[in-house]
Amino acid sequence: MSIDRTEWGVAEGYVREYGHFIDGTDEPSIGGERIERHNPASGELVASWPAGTITDVDRAVKAAVRAFEDGRWSGLTASQRSDVLGAVSRKLKSDWKRLALIESLETGKAISQSADEIPWSGDMWDFAAGQARALHGDSYSGFGESKLALVLREPIGPVGIITPWNYPMVVLAQKLPYALAAGCTVVVKPSEFTSGTTLELAQILREAGLPDGVFNVVTGYGNPVGQRLAEHHDIRLVSFTGSTATGRKVVEASASNMKKVVLELGGKNPNVIFADADLDAAVDGAIKAFVYNSGAECCSGSRVIVERSIMDSFVAKLDERLDTVSIGDPLDPATKMGSINNKPQYEKILKYIEIGKDEATLVRGGGASPQLGGLFIEPTVFKDVPLDATIAKEEIFGPVIAVIPFDSIDDAIHIANDTEYGLASSVWTSDLATATKMARKVNAGVVWVNTFLDLPSEIPVGGVRQSGYGRENGRYAAEEYTVVKTVVLQDPSAAPRYLV
Ligand code: NAD
Repeated sequence: MSIDRTEWGVAEGYVREYGHFIDGTDEPSIGGERIERHNPASGELVASWPAGTITDVDRAVKAAVRAFEDGRWSGLTASQRSDVLGAVSRKLKSDWKRLALIESLETGKAISQSADEIPWSGDMWDFAAGQARALHGDSYSGFGESKLALVLREPIGPVGIITPWNYPMVVLAQKLPYALAAGCTVVVKPSEFTSGTTLELAQILREAGLPDGVFNVVTGYGNPVGQRLAEHHDIRLVSFTGSTATGRKVVEASASNMKKVVLELGGKNPNVIFADADLDAAVDGAIKAFVYNSGAECCSGSRVIVERSIMDSFVAKLDERLDTVSIGDPLDPATKMGSINNKPQYEKILKYIEIGKDEATLVRGGGASPQLGGLFIEPTVFKDVPLDATIAKEEIFGPVIAVIPFDSIDDAIHIANDTEYGLASSVWTSDLATATKMARKVNAGVVWVNTFLDLPSEIPVGGVRQSGYGRENGRYAAEEYTVVKTVVLQDPSAAPRYLV
């Protein structure tokens, strides 16, 4: 049964209408066009926001530059900044229902999942609040008594943040509080499919005491809004999460003023299961790794690499356990998997499933579930997938896995690394030597052993190879938004002279 929407903060049938958020106020777009968002699980109109223009981006960047230069945020003490971030965290942890509902209405994801994601985002805000005070530089005192060198960490400047549709609040929480902790001001461009919670957050930030102009949101399409932000001469860093193809465009655009770029891109992540693993735990992990968030998970274990001796029992158990995954109404707390987020992605996944049918053996699934009333796709399992198959190479970003056999640990390492990506990986084994070797040899930003999508706010995440560069979360995240400045202090009475 669906939740009571009124009790969760947004009455059934209510259509939320937003403006941009610039310099502390809601603003309509200059140009006037709007984007309507329909719930992908039901087709219901749930919200609308402006389709921003270049002029809107320029206005927002101007506000962010002014707020950065007059020091209304970076000039506060770290403890004052930490107080504001902490207040946001408390709000996200205590008052999450409305945001969770909005997240599910706009993304189609299960409400049980959104109900985790908002407090989880709050935890990142909490960790970043601590980082505001922990950020520090360095000093050198080994140059004799008349000289000292200091290494300062200063905020890099106005930052642009561009986010995707799969985790609107979580991805923003991996970036925004760290940028604010460092003293930066920010312009965010959320995905055109899921901008609601980012705009709701603007109100929470205002109530928490963030000065006007420090956080700005311009909604709209990748081009022109994201493109303009990535090109803008007054933006000093762009943090982007999205596809590798768009990431490449962001890198090209950043050349305009040599801004720093942090990229969290796609993945074709290996999930390696050894014969000595706890099979129940491995099957459960493998299911979560492609069903969670309907497979729209950058860390999704989309290549399941299984030791040949247990292949048949693994696939049989996986098939049996998938029967227990409830798919359907995202607003029913019992639902495990909701809908696909948007029509282009839905069509892309179905196209890959058809390609897979020609490349490998279909174990289960294999199509859409139109009887559920929206963009639903069955969890789909392919086995005996050749290494050069399209479904073993390309990111599908949906509930589809390619199961691939291996014969030895070196074989497993070779297959795991046979990709241009390198975001995340999982290994299931009860042998410490196997776990250690895999952890050292797999090319990925994260290696999970006997667990999956285990992301406490303290630990950094990010990719290698075409999965991007830079890190989010942990102390590394806050450091991304700083520049190092060196100061050399010389006692003038003891200064060496050049001319004498
Ligand atoms: P996308 O690349 O299509 O869009 C991401 C964002 O970029 C959106 O806000 C979009 O409007 C914007 N954009 C589009 N064109 C742009 C341009 N020319 N310049 C600047 N911005 C532009 O990605 P998506 O479909 O929203 O998300 C899916 C992708 O994101 C997948 O590849 C997935 O792996 C990746 N992803 C990665 C992570 C991670 O942490 N590594 C997390 C989530 C999603």
